[in-house]
Amino acid sequence: MLPGATLGVLGSGQLGRMFALAARAMGYRVHVYSPDRGSPAGQVADREMTASYDDLEAVASFADGVDALTFEFENVPAATVEAAARRTRVRPSGHVLHVTQQRAREKTFLRDHGLPVTPFAVAGQAGDLPAALAVVGAPAVLKTARCGYDGKGQALVPDEAGLEAAWRAVGGGECVLERFVAFEREVSMVAARGEDGAFAHFGVVENRHARHILDLTLAPAGVPDAVAVEAEALTRAVMEALDVVGVLCVEYFLTADGTLLINELAPRPHNSGHFTVDACVTSQFEQQVRATCGLPLGATRQHSPAAMANLLGDLWDGGEPDWAVACAFPGVKLHLYGKSEARPGRKMGHLTALGATREEALRDALAARAALAGRHHAW
Ligand code: AMP
Repeated sequence: MLPGATLGVLGSGQLGRMFALAARAMGYRVHVYSPDRGSPAGQVADREMTASYDDLEAVASFADGVDALTFEFENVPAATVEAAARRTRVRPSGHVLHVTQQRAREKTFLRDHGLPVTPFAVAGQAGDLPAALAVVGAPAVLKTARCGYDGKGQALVPDEAGLEAAWRAVGGGECVLERFVAFEREVSMVAARGEDGAFAHFGVVENRHARHILDLTLAPAGVPDAVAVEAEALTRAVMEALDVVGVLCVEYFLTADGTLLINELAPRPHNSGHFTVDACVTSQFEQQVRATCGLPLGATRQHSPAAMANLLGDLWDGGEPDWAVACAFPGVKLHLYGKSEARPGRKMGHLTALGATREEALRDALAARAALAGRHHAW
């Protein structure tokens, strides 16, 4: 699938936007399928089709108009993927989405393939919870099986007496109960796998969360060599077990004794890989384009230590931030997603700082973001 072809993306947020920008830079045309008009991805695409994911006729007509199709999030209904796959090339496959869009299925798949996950038990109903807690042990974390992200649909279970409140807090339904892991750090690895099985990763990065939302990524993570080697082997094993053609992120808990436990998979570019746009030879989005099109993967070498800081809607409290303040840091790159409504906790953009060391990059990313807080543009 060479430049000039038309690529479709299901989903229209910032990940679709950055995919579209990478694809257009290489000379592809991009069509976006979006539930909303004027979406972040639609703004930079050749065409934005507005319809719901359940509208299979619209999905079929969208698929007819593209040469290949990819996703920017995994919670696309199975029937939608099947309808598209009957008409065009879809990467990654519906099987990858099926496994990763449901937490219980994903964790069971990983465990069955001998991959290290947090001890867990699936609870179909409230009555299953005491037995599940006996399996995993307290304290534990209760998570809804479907559609959880950024810590939504999660509750801490300190002990058996806390089960009922946690069940109510996550809204019931099928759940996964996991042992609470006293991890030392959270790290992730974004990687790509080509049609021919080629594998290329962007190294281990460190992720720091605030209010369960990714706040900062430090690249590289600076983990011991043995941990980096293990992360590469595990990430590769995950992608091979799922037969992924595309980009995938594995989020890990790193414990004090150097053990990696897989927390979550995302079968697409990931927030913790945004630094690759400014700091690597090939970005995670260009890798998605290449894998989707069956092109060779690009080099993933990082040419500069980097730190990424998310810009959440809270920063808009009081008005549009004065972006010139961030641009005054010469090593800081500003990315905004074109979202018109800033809500607290909503990902509106990010800053990537490049530095001689990751500490220097982190210092600049934090300083630039701090300078933005409370500095609003006077219209
Ligand atoms: P998740 O939506 O599963 O990625 O969880 C969001 C965040 O909650 C993670 O990045 C961790 O910071 C925290 N968390 C999730 N599961 C656990 C666990 N089993 N033990 C400790 N912290 C957790």
